[in-house]
Amino acid sequence: MSFENLNLIEPILKALKTEGYTTPTPIQEQSIPIILERKDLLGCAQTGTGKTAAFAIPILQILEGGKIYDKGPRAIKCLILTPTRELAIQIGESFAAYGRHTGMKHAVIFGGVSQGSQVSALKSGVDILIATPGRLLDLINQKFVHLHYLKIFVLDEADRMLDMGFIHDVKKIITKIPQKRQTLFFSATMPDEIQKLANTILVNPEKVEV
Ligand code: AMP
Repeated sequence: MSFENLNLIEPILKALKTEGYTTPTPIQEQSIPIILERKDLLGCAQTGTGKTAAFAIPILQILEGGKIYDKGPRAIKCLILTPTRELAIQIGESFAAYGRHTGMKHAVIFGGVSQGSQVSALKSGVDILIATPGRLLDLINQKFVHLHYLKIFVLDEADRMLDMGFIHDVKKIITKIPQKRQTLFFSATMPDEIQKLANTILVNPEKVEV
């Protein structure tokens, strides 16, 4: 199996070559076709399995493919919620790397720093927003973030959201995004509360376990 067999567009294949990736990891091989078919996904995978590329690559491809229909101003079409600043920054770097030959723009927002530069990035217009829950809620409440045009929602490390006490914020955010969307849900473990959350926010999900 190579990335060439996954029906990826040339701008993404070229970026993967630059990264030195030749073979998809198991989670990538299984998840990329499901996501490209626009299905919901429940992925049980730890960090280090190539999970980030497993969602970033197909998301970039879907959004890049949709851009010709999208004549309005740039709006957030994909939201990725992740529990920590470090993960948010890493995910941002992945989107920058795999999306370098696409026209997609992203921003990363997290707490513990002043919001000024994050607000400027949002004002300049982004397609993809990577966020930790607390800061995102702050910026939604201040009307710096609008999620009406969201098409894809990714919940990354759901079990850690629970451990870190963010699950209430996560649920609040979910009430503020469109119901008609594609949802990708990743968790290393599936405690009851996380399984329940998955059951309420996913529609006929395909399950991938690595
Ligand atoms: P992640 O599980 O998303 O944190 O990724 C773990 C590491 O694997 C990251 O440093 C990626 O750059 C790298 N990686 C992801 N997919 C591949 C691949 N198909 N080939 C080689 N390295 C990869």
